Amino acid sequence: MEILLAKSAGFCFGVKRAVDMAFKTDSTKKTYTLGHIIHNETVTHQLHEKGIESIEHMDHVPMDQLIIRAHGVPEEVYQEAYEKSVHVIDATCPYVTKIHKLVSRHEKEGFNIILIGDANHPEIIGINGWTKKGCIILKNKSELDFSQLSQDARYFIVSQTTYKKAVVDEIVEALEQAGYNIKFMNTICSATSERQNEAREMASQVEAMVVIGSRHSSNTQKLYEICGSLCPKTYCIDDASMLKEEDFEGIEKVGVTAGASTPADVIDEVLTKLQQI
Ligand code: SF4
Repeated sequence: MEILLAKSAGFCFGVKRAVDMAFKTDSTKKTYTLGHIIHNETVTHQLHEKGIESIEHMDHVPMDQLIIRAHGVPEEVYQEAYEKSVHVIDATCPYVTKIHKLVSRHEKEGFNIILIGDANHPEIIGINGWTKKGCIILKNKSELDFSQLSQDARYFIVSQTTYKKAVVDEIVEALEQAGYNIKFMNTICSATSERQNEAREMASQVEAMVVIGSRHSSNTQKLYEICGSLCPKTYCIDDASMLKEEDFEGIEKVGVTAGASTPADVIDEVLTKLQQI
């Protein structure tokens, strides 16, 4: 069986930076991460062994240091840390920080902010928290409600960094065609689009596709969706233990890609197991 590995598989720049920052942290001080640093159990376990735990919010947890993950957090979290004299180790991806600054500035300039993404995703919760009035959050074009909008207002549009470009384009086009006063900035991270394009190309050339990453990782799920639409035998797995030999019977060419939070050693183990199959 020929095995193709996507060049873009695995940690992106922002995730690698956040993980490195977490591992370099002086853990003799009481340190927490706000949410898991990445959606990966191996990394979470390694940090736990180093004495760094993950919490969902800062309430009633005595701590010296707080690590903010690549997704970023609302502005109020920095304020809360400051009030509690907690040192912040800010591992927010610089691309996400840029969106925080953009929405904050445009709101001050009088724009209403339209944020395209999943309202429950931590990155969207974080970006929304950098505006005073809150953003209009849209998951897809069907959520676009023109009765909420005004032809007299100005709208600044950004999206979740890991969102599908086609969904963003559809919403922007609909607003343009309806004649709204909009300013759009493409905030989809090139790491994501490169990974998605490569996955798309690969999935159309192979008989089976393996997508490695967590079910909780939005960018992994998007990869799974893209590959699944082009290659019916697409399998999404957390790690090598989930590979089933029978799924590859008669397959001569398999493609492998991985989400942004999948460590290199997990990818290596999957490749080794596929070679054995
Ligand atoms: S996908 Fe892009 S924006 Fe998101 S953490 Fe990675 S590098 Fe940063």
